[in-house]
Amino acid sequence: MAVDPTAPYDPENIFAKILRGEIPCNKVYEDGHALAFHDINPQADVHILVIPKGAYVSWDDFSEHASDQEIAGFVRAVGNVARENGLVVRGYRLLGNVGRNGGQEVPHLHVHLFGGGPLGPMLAR
Ligand code: AMP
Repeated sequence: MAVDPTAPYDPENIFAKILRGEIPCNKVYEDGHALAFHDINPQADVHILVIPKGAYVSWDDFSEHASDQEIAGFVRAVGNVARENGLVVRGYRLLGNVGRNGGQEVPHLHVHLFGGGPLGPMLAR
């Protein structure tokens, strides 16, 4: 179901459960601000999700309400994940879906990190 990016945070969403360790994930990175794990339904050779540890529904929520420290920590974590997975030299793609038009399905902010080979056109037409 489409996410309302302005809705209150639902602590029972699947990524909140992953953060609490209630359901497993294939973890690739963790620091004080972020957790990263392989997408369960990969759309590229490398498809990693990076999520902030704070309770933010969407990029809209995060950019408006997160502290400067949380924002800096999350952005640095995304860069660390790309570097640690050897994606920088050949390149990669970041994607953040927001709300219905963006196709957001999980109401906890996440950035998709794609790599491992040429990723084709930016958007399917
Ligand atoms: P979005 O459409 O941007 O909300 O993307 C949600 C992503 O979460 C999709 O690519 C799903 O395959 C992925 N996903 C859903 N549940 C899990 C899970 N338990 N572990 C890893 N990835 C998941």
